[in-house]
Amino acid sequence: VDRRRFLSGAAAVASATALGTGATTGTASAATGETGAPVVVTPSDGRYADLVFGDNKRFTGKPQEVRVVRSTADAVLAVQQAVRSGKRLSVRGGGHCFEDFVYNPDVQVVVDMTEMKRVYFDEERNALVVEGGALLSDAYETLYKLYGVFLPAGVCNTVGIGGHACGGGYGMHCRQHGLSIDHLYGVEVVTVDAGGTARAVVATREAGDPNRDLWWAHAGGGGGNFGVITRYFFRSPGVIGSDPRSLLPAPPSEVLVSAVSWSWDDLSRADFTALAKNFGAWHVDNVRPGTANDSVNAVLFFGHRANGAVTMLTQSDGTDPNAEKVHEGFLAAVSAGVGAQRGTAARPFGEHGPMPEFATPRRLPWLQATRRLGTTVTPVEGLTAPGWRHDNRAAYFRANLTDHHVDTMYEHLVDSTIDASTPASAQLHSYGGRVNAVAPDATAFSHRDSAFLLAHAVSWTDEKQDAKYVGWLRAFYGAMFADTGGVPVSNSVTDGCYVNYPDIDLSDPSINTSGVPWYTLYYKNNYPRLQQVKARWDPRNVFRHSQSIRLP
Ligand SMILES: Cc1cc2nc3c(=O)[nH]c(=O)nc-3n(C[C@H](O)[C@H](O)[C@H](O)COP(=O)(O)OP(=O)(O)OC[C@H]3O[C@@H](n4cnc5c(N)ncnc54)[C@H](O)[C@@H]3O)c2cc1C
Repeated sequence: VDRRRFLSGAAAVASATALGTGATTGTASAATGETGAPVVVTPSDGRYADLVFGDNKRFTGKPQEVRVVRSTADAVLAVQQAVRSGKRLSVRGGGHCFEDFVYNPDVQVVVDMTEMKRVYFDEERNALVVEGGALLSDAYETLYKLYGVFLPAGVCNTVGIGGHACGGGYGMHCRQHGLSIDHLYGVEVVTVDAGGTARAVVATREAGDPNRDLWWAHAGGGGGNFGVITRYFFRSPGVIGSDPRSLLPAPPSEVLVSAVSWSWDDLSRADFTALAKNFGAWHVDNVRPGTANDSVNAVLFFGHRANGAVTMLTQSDGTDPNAEKVHEGFLAAVSAGVGAQRGTAARPFGEHGPMPEFATPRRLPWLQATRRLGTTVTPVEGLTAPGWRHDNRAAYFRANLTDHHVDTMYEHLVDSTIDASTPASAQLHSYGGRVNAVAPDATAFSHRDSAFLLAHAVSWTDEKQDAKYVGWLRAFYGAMFADTGGVPVSNSVTDGCYVNYPDIDLSDPSINTSGVPWYTLYYKNNYPRLQQVKARWDPRNVFRHSQSIRLP
């Protein structure tokens, strides 16, 4: 029955697309009967409590309904019914949103994509499909096992492709292969027209596609803005042929992985400064693609002193004939002039605990490394255990951290607000390389000359401590960018913010005093064009949250 329902829904999409507009008419009526219907979970249903939260327990929704969809037709129906009944909706992918865009108290219907998670080859579009509710681990595992390819994407395996890919998607291969959206061929999106009719639309990057603007907006515009993404179609630009094994890059069969740390017990202020500046300088030196260092990606994780250590995870291409030299060269560059001894990664990030076996670079098959790093680079215990609350903020850097930045990081990471049970950090993430091979207006993702991303994070469990820890991170971030109104405006050093690391404070003029609005920090010059796309594809502003693209 499920197969018949799926095929029937797919046929509706395919036949309407054949009309030549690229648009489909998978309307509510077409989606009833044979095509099935979303599973509706209301507050009286025993499943409800399991379906109304994401990873950040600061945001627990109270929707009247959760609609769990299994097909595009289901999604059309779920959206159509919400619109007809005048209910505000949100879309839930992997549930990793840093803000309340999914689980906002005003949301009455959550369209839950988590059961729409297939990964397969679509012959008609000659693309590899990842459905809108898949997790990154679904994409990594299936694309590799079935086709020997991969999608460059984020480090955390439990992030959802739904919100991730449309915002950019960087990770441990971005310097060599770019962002997820750099391989985006098309999207299937359930949109709502001016008359209130929901329909599924396919938009591709083909020059002649009348819906190309919708593809462009999904290549960096971020989730929850235009419709429900039911399917992502991936095929790298310039690929010829129809063998699914050639549509995306093959990952290196082997990678070199290292996980090293510097204990705060040994770390002087000068050591701290050297680590931060060395990491920044290396990335500025390697900001353009085409160097021998393209395959090196790292996260330098400055845990708060109360958390014990500064840790760095590095991955590089093990099939490079100079693999060891390249990897060791990076480690040496970051460690230069640091007096504290480099040790094993002492901080237990996840269920695997410390990783002493990676104190020196070690070869691992690619999939094993992806599984291993994906569950150890972030505090997944905190994310998967009930009750963890988080605050996050980020900034792109074109040039190295200034003395002011490093001093401010140091002062906040040794203060007395944070204790050992509260993970708090400033993290430097690799960017540059192939990410910067794309023009800033070619996709909606505009940060195409940055060297690294600085992320700030704190996690706690007690609701009563929300103000304390959000206040701590707000003050930390504000102090970092005090010279530019408390935010990393686009200038010669910084370059705005990452839409996938949203920060609602950017909208508050008492906190962001730069005069540069939140949307310019995320999208720079691409924002007006995104607004035009919004006007065309979501004229009723059905898909909205506190930092969604506004109608022009
Ligand atoms: C632990 C952790 C690690 C991370 N690591 C990385 C990383 O390595 N690289 C990186 O680039 N980012 C990373 N991120 C950020 C991540 O990319 C974003 O949080 C992303 O938006 C999460 O998508 P989601 O589907 O899991 O989240 P959700 O909370 O489900 O959704 C986030 C937003 O996207 C919308 N959305 C979700 N699915 C759909 C859909 N199918 N159609 C339309 N809109 C949708 C939602 O409505 C919401 O507005 C990380 C986040 C966390 C919490």
